[in-house]
Amino acid sequence: MTEELFREDATLLHCEAAITGQGEGGVLLDRTVCYPLGGGQAGDTGWLVAGERRWRITDTRKSKESPGAIVHLIEGEALPAIGSAVSVEVDAARRQAHRRFHTATHLLCALLPYPVDGCSITEAYARLDFHTDEPFDKEAIQAGLTRLVAEAHPVSHRWISEEELDANPGLVRSMSVQPPRGLGRVRVLEIAGVDLQPCGGTHVSNTAEIGAVIVTKIEKKSAKTRRVVLGFAA
Ligand SMILES: [Zn+2]
Repeated sequence: MTEELFREDATLLHCEAAITGQGEGGVLLDRTVCYPLGGGQAGDTGWLVAGERRWRITDTRKSKESPGAIVHLIEGEALPAIGSAVSVEVDAARRQAHRRFHTATHLLCALLPYPVDGCSITEAYARLDFHTDEPFDKEAIQAGLTRLVAEAHPVSHRWISEEELDANPGLVRSMSVQPPRGLGRVRVLEIAGVDLQPCGGTHVSNTAEIGAVIVTKIEKKSAKTRRVVLGFAA
């Protein structure tokens, strides 16, 4: 198992860790600040550091072979040895882009009351697909987004039991991604008075931190799917 420090504090960009395994294109750690690809959000990149040596983390994934462990993909053959101590550093600019875009997608969920059937959050853009045949008004969505950012709503997470989630099925907005089961608890993300849903991603702590995010495109992906694409203002 890898202790997931990013779940409790998305501002944490550095930690000390031990190499617990090698494989799947990289190394496993006992704890990490790197978010693994999932829930539509891209994995973190960064560096492992031991003394003078640095290894580039090209991506972060959930291990397929060791459930609960996180693989840090490393370029090159000479991996840090199992049992050795390393510092883990997250690429801060990429993390901040993910946090801003990801939180902005929650604001879209608040503005557009339709099930979500696709999501992609990257360093350069975010896109969210809604299951509806309603036409979307780009200017109105932009105005709503700008307002919710300016209103500076606090963003926080907490853990609820699986029973509590089952008692409130309306919490789950996504048709394509279900919250992970079997851990006994589910992480929910709350933007006070705006949005509440299960989410394991990295977010800003106040909507004001999202800053200048713009609706770059509205697309009709299919008869029943409308896509909203977000970018950063130039
Ligand atoms: Zn989220």
